[in-house]
Amino acid sequence: MKTENVDVLVIGAGPSGTVAASIINKAGFNVKIVEKMKFPRFVIGESLLPRCMEALEEAGFLDALRQAGFQEKYGAKFVSNGKVCDFEFDYQFTPGWTRTWQVPRAEFDKILADTVVSQGVPISYETTVTGIKFNGSESETTVVDAKGEESTIKARFIVDGSGYGRVIPRLFNLERPSSLPPRKALFTHFVDLKRAMADQPSRITIVVHKPDVWIWVIPFSNGKTSLGFVGSPSFFEPLKGTPEDQLRHLVSTEPYLAERFKNAEMIFEPRELKSWSVTTDKFFGEGFVLTGNVTEFLDPVFSSGVTLAVSSSQIAANLVVRELKAEKVDWQKEYMDVMMQGVDVFRTYVNAWYDGTLHTIFFAENQDEDIKNMICSVLAGYVWDQNNPYVKDHEQAVYKLARIIRLRDTIV
Ligand SMILES: Cc1cc2nc3c(=O)[nH]c(=O)nc-3n(C[C@H](O)[C@H](O)[C@H](O)COP(=O)(O)OP(=O)(O)OC[C@H]3O[C@@H](n4cnc5c(N)ncnc54)[C@H](O)[C@@H]3O)c2cc1C
Repeated sequence: MKTENVDVLVIGAGPSGTVAASIINKAGFNVKIVEKMKFPRFVIGESLLPRCMEALEEAGFLDALRQAGFQEKYGAKFVSNGKVCDFEFDYQFTPGWTRTWQVPRAEFDKILADTVVSQGVPISYETTVTGIKFNGSESETTVVDAKGEESTIKARFIVDGSGYGRVIPRLFNLERPSSLPPRKALFTHFVDLKRAMADQPSRITIVVHKPDVWIWVIPFSNGKTSLGFVGSPSFFEPLKGTPEDQLRHLVSTEPYLAERFKNAEMIFEPRELKSWSVTTDKFFGEGFVLTGNVTEFLDPVFSSGVTLAVSSSQIAANLVVRELKAEKVDWQKEYMDVMMQGVDVFRTYVNAWYDGTLHTIFFAENQDEDIKNMICSVLAGYVWDQNNPYVKDHEQAVYKLARIIRLRDTIV
C-alpha cells in the first residue's frame, strides 16, 4: 500500500479546509488536502458575512474571488407583514469589512480550491478518509480513492474541515446533539427574471412567513436567486406532491414573493436538508484540530456558517503553525474558548429569532440607530468585538431591549 508523508493533512476542500491549508502552507509547511467529492460540487451556504473577508484575505483568496464577479452584498433585509428592517453594513458599529458576496457555492468553493492548489497545496479529489490512527500527535490516515484503492498518509498534524462529513467526531465518538430543536429547509435556485420587482440585489432578504417559519432570498450575479423555506419538520409534513410542487405551493402562499417567483424556472429539483444542528465535545486533541462545520453548526438564519468556518480555520491554522514550530499552544484558551465566544453570540441571536424576541426588535417603530448599528455588527459576523454591548452582554442586552420596546409600545 502506498504511503505518503506530510506535515499537515487537511480533510475537506471546503472553505474551512482551503483557508487552513493556505495559511499553513504559506508558513513553509508541507500540506495536503483530501476531498471526497469531485469539484465543482453543490453545497448550501451562499450568503457570506463581511467578517469572513478577513480570513479569505489572510489565505490570499481575495484577488481570485474579485475576478469571479460575484454579487456584492452590502447588507441584509428582514421583512414581516409589510414591515421592513434593512441593515446596511456601512453603518455597523465595529470597524471592519462592510462588503462581502452572495455566491453559488459550487463556483466559490472551486475558486478557493484552485487558488490553494496554485499556492502549492495538492488536493486529492474523490478521495475519502476512512480511518485514522493516532500515535501521540503523529497520525496515519487511511484514504480510498475513486478507483477504490487504499493508501495511507502519515502526518504530524490533521486539520479536520470535513463539514457535514464530521470525520474525526464520527471516528472517535465525539459527536453530541445540539441544544437547538430540529429544523428543515426546502430550497432551490430560480431564474429570477422579475428581480426588478424587489429592491437592490446587493443584500439578502429574510422573509418572516409565519412566526417560526422564514424564507431566504439570495440573489446571485448570474440572474439566478437562491430561495429556501426553513421551519420545523411538522410545518412541511402536510405538503403533497413532488419537491417542486411543494416549493411552488409554499411560494404561492407568501405574498412578498408569490408574484416574483410565479412560474419562474427552477434550476434543480428542490432539495431538503434537516436536523443540521450538531456539536462536538472538543474542538481539538493531540495531533488534530476540528474547524468549520465539524465543530458546531447552529442554524442558517444569520448566514454564520461560512464565516465561522473560515474564522475558525484562520485561528486554528496559525496555532498549528506555532505548534509545528514547537511553541506552546493552549488550545482550550486560544482556540476552543475563542470559538465558543463567537458561537455563543450567534446562539443567542438564533434563539432570539425563533422565540420572536428579534422580531420585536427588528420591526419596532422608532428604532435607536446606535443600537441598530451594534446589532448590525453581529449580523456582519463581528461577534468577537467586546466593545459592542450587543456582543459582550449579548443575551442580556437583546432580551432587555425587547422588554423595553414591548413596555414602550404598551404605554403608547
Ligand atoms: C439549510 C442551510 C442553509 C445554509 N445557509 C448558509 C448561508 O447562507 N451562509 C453561510 O455562511 N452558511 C450557510 N449554511 C452553512 C454552510 O453550509 C456551512 O457552514 C459551510 O459550508 C461550512 O463550510 P466547511 O468548509 O466547514 O464545510 P463544507 O463546505 O461542507 O466542506 C467540507 C468538505 O469536506 C468533504 N468531506 C466530507 N467528508 C469527507 C471525508 N470522509 N473525506 C474527505 N473529504 C470529506 C466534503 O465533500 C466537503 O467538500 C447553511 C446550512 C444549511 C444547513
